[in-house]
Amino acid sequence: MTADIILSTRDLTIEFKGFVAVDGVSLDIRRGTIHALIGPNGAGKTTCFNLLTKFLTPTKGTITFKGNDITALRPATVARLGLVRSFQISAVFPHLTALENVRVALQRKRGGSFDFWRSERVLRALNDEALNLLDAVGLTDFAALPAVELSYGRKRALEIATTLALDPEMLLLDEPMAGMGHEDVERIAALIRRVSANRTILMVEHNLSVVASLSDHITVLARGKVLAEGNYSTVSSNPAVIEAYIGA
Ligand code: ADP
Repeated sequence: MTADIILSTRDLTIEFKGFVAVDGVSLDIRRGTIHALIGPNGAGKTTCFNLLTKFLTPTKGTITFKGNDITALRPATVARLGLVRSFQISAVFPHLTALENVRVALQRKRGGSFDFWRSERVLRALNDEALNLLDAVGLTDFAALPAVELSYGRKRALEIATTLALDPEMLLLDEPMAGMGHEDVERIAALIRRVSANRTILMVEHNLSVVASLSDHITVLARGKVLAEGNYSTVSSNPAVIEAYIGA
C-alpha cells in the first residue's frame, strides 16, 4: 500500500444466509480525493458502506485505514482515528438550535459529556468555533433556529457541520443528495467541494450528474463485485457499466 492511499479494502466480503451481497471487493482510496461508489440498485453499495463504517462485520477480507487494520474495530474507535460517517440524522438534536448542535459536537470531540444544560457559561467559550463551522456550511443566518425548523437541505448542511466539528481526515457520505431539490443539491455539492479541500471523501450517490461533477475517482459495483473503476468519462463509457445499469 502506498503512502497516498488512506483507506483500502482487500477481498471484502459479506454473506447473508448464503447470499453474497459484497463479494471480494478491493478498493484503494487516495488521500485528498472525492471517491464515489456507484452502481445499479442491489449492487451492494449500502452494504459496502456499512462495512466500511463498521456497522456490519465482514465474513472475510480486511479494511485498512492509515495503515491500521480496522476490520475488527468498533465505529467509535474508527471515528477517533479520523474516519467519520456523516448524514446520520441521529447526529442532530431537533430541539437544539443549529448553533447548540455544533457546540455539542465540539464538546464531544473534546471528550466532554452532554452537560450543555448545566454549563452554558463553559459552552459559550465554544461559540466562536461553532459559528465558524456554521459559516463554513452556509448556516450563519440560521444559527438561532431549532434544527427541526431547518429545511431538509439545511439540516444536512448542519449534519456536515457537526461532523466537521470532529475534524475528520476522511468523511463517508451516504447519499448526500437523497431527497433534495435542485437548489439544495447545488448548495450541498458546493459544500462537499469546499470540505474536500483538505479531506478525503467517499460517497455513495445515486445522482450521476453530481457524481460526474464532484468525483475524482469512481468505483462501480454490480452484484457485489467491482465492475469498473476510473474517472467519470471512463466508467460511463464502459459497455459493461452501461449494460449493468440498463439491465438492473
Ligand atoms: P445497493 O445499496 O447497491 O442498492 P444493497 O447493499 O442495499 O445494494 O443490497 C445488496 C444486496 O444485498 C441486495 O440484494 C439486498 O437485498 C441484499 N441485502 C442487503 N442487506 C441484507 C441483509 N441484511 N440480509 C439479506 N440480504 C441483504
